[in-house]
Amino acid sequence: MPAPEFQHTVGKTASFSGTALHTGDKVTLKLQPAPVDHGIKFKRKDLQDEPTIDAKIENLKTVERATTIGEGSVRVHTVEHILSALSAMGVDNAVVEMDANEPPIGDGSAQAYVDLIKKAGVTAQDEPRKFFDVREPMHVEAKTGALLVLLPDDKFRISCTQAGPNNRFTQFLSMEITPTSFECEIAPARTFVYYEDVEPLMDKNLIKGGSLENAIVVRGEAALSKEPLRFPDEFVRHKILDIVGDLALVGRRIRGHVVAVKPGHAANAELARALAREQTRRSAMSAPRAIPIGDSGLDTGEVMKILPHRYPFLMVDRVIGFEGENKITAIKSITINEPFFQGHFPGHPVMPGVMQVEAMAQAASILLFKLTKTSSRVGYFMSADEVKFRKPVFPGDTIFIHAELTRARGNRMAKTKCYCVVNDAIVSEAELMFTFLDK
Ligand SMILES: [Zn+2]
Repeated sequence: MPAPEFQHTVGKTASFSGTALHTGDKVTLKLQPAPVDHGIKFKRKDLQDEPTIDAKIENLKTVERATTIGEGSVRVHTVEHILSALSAMGVDNAVVEMDANEPPIGDGSAQAYVDLIKKAGVTAQDEPRKFFDVREPMHVEAKTGALLVLLPDDKFRISCTQAGPNNRFTQFLSMEITPTSFECEIAPARTFVYYEDVEPLMDKNLIKGGSLENAIVVRGEAALSKEPLRFPDEFVRHKILDIVGDLALVGRRIRGHVVAVKPGHAANAELARALAREQTRRSAMSAPRAIPIGDSGLDTGEVMKILPHRYPFLMVDRVIGFEGENKITAIKSITINEPFFQGHFPGHPVMPGVMQVEAMAQAASILLFKLTKTSSRVGYFMSADEVKFRKPVFPGDTIFIHAELTRARGNRMAKTKCYCVVNDAIVSEAELMFTFLDK
């Protein structure tokens, strides 16, 4: 299980100069330390009052050719490569000060930024890092054919398939993103462009700083550049570099597996937006709905008169309602104080699925007790079929336990269909069978 991780910033200020891609001007970039929970902010030293822009997805402005963020009328362009390097090298908090509207392009890779970060050093701070844990698959699709799927994983992984026009230069690579893997395998991969895409931009003089020194130009089957390809699959590596940079706009470290097919800045940004939305939803989540109290249900005391179970094995807090004779809904609020979280698992608390089955069995038992209307016979859990665990349950979740009687044979046997629901999604289900015996 992962040990707690702390936020990091750079050890000292470090700077480097170079050419801006779009304007061709000289620009100096200074990387400076920042306090905990600051995040990454860009500072425009060249403008009056030196405004800053938060590297957050809500500040994303455009994604054509490069990623541009802005606040008010202030913009910074082509932020994805430096954000990629900062994120992958483990820098959570920093100020990126520039005297122009975009960072120096370097050689079109993230190499210059990795060198800069190493020059500045990376130091731990005393607050824990913020993570976005992928709990269930998410995906975005774009008209360009881009598809991004995000799957649960305890590491940050990217599996990427890149394909150019007519499937030229189709490449695949799958890897975990760590500072070491990024520095060796991803950071040196350069930007590549298709000749047919850049020709009109060159005509309009929109990429004044662009040259074969900071991009690979693909013309037909040929890859033109100042130096030979750094990897046979350099293009897919650069696609991974861009994904890391664009997803850094989420502002949290992602624990999940990104499966990307023909990704681009637009699709990457859309996934970042979806993650930010999901994060907002999670942060705002309180009890998912009003929980009824009163005569229609049973409080804990009444539940304990029916069920013999006691702490730590009573898995029903309250019955919130019956529907006719055959249906019951109960709730169980899961807190971090549940004894099973101490061992399941330290640092990564997930409610054991078998405890959900137990909760379903207890809710069903209450239903059967009401049905038999006698306390001289007691229901015994006989079998569990069609058991499915669909989603993990975490501390803070409230489980709605639904049980329905589907078959009863006199006072001898009963079959129930049960579901556990969290936030309107089924997290587990089972068919439970009971037999009745005299006490
Ligand atoms: Zn790029």
